[in-house]
Amino acid sequence: MLTASGSSMKAFFIDLLNRFLAAVPVERNIALTILVTFAALIVIIVVIGLLQPKKPKAKAKRRSRYISTKVKQIVWERDHGKCVICGSRVDLEYDHEIPWSKGGSNSENNIRLLCRKCNRAKSAKIE
Ligand SMILES: [Zn+2]
Repeated sequence: MLTASGSSMKAFFIDLLNRFLAAVPVERNIALTILVTFAALIVIIVVIGLLQPKKPKAKAKRRSRYISTKVKQIVWERDHGKCVICGSRVDLEYDHEIPWSKGGSNSENNIRLLCRKCNRAKSAKIE
């Protein structure tokens, strides 16, 4: 009968343990110690396994407004190192043409060189 009520399961395991201990040609308490040590080791291994932090998926694509050096280089060369609106060469900033907050990408297609003045003027218009 395999209907495993709690007590019959326990009796089964005690019986199994007794058979094991009878079969092992060492003193009962030594065999028990070894058994308990193994059980403890298994428990420790399982617990350590469960406690391992789950590895984050390799570079989850989190949106970041970071513009790569490569893109900056491409944009700088394309825009000839000056503001695309007024042509100023001072206080230049890399601007997201479609604002990053509105889903604009960090690719060179969406980045341009603006001077601070034009960039502020643009921000004011959007807000
Ligand atoms: Zn400008």
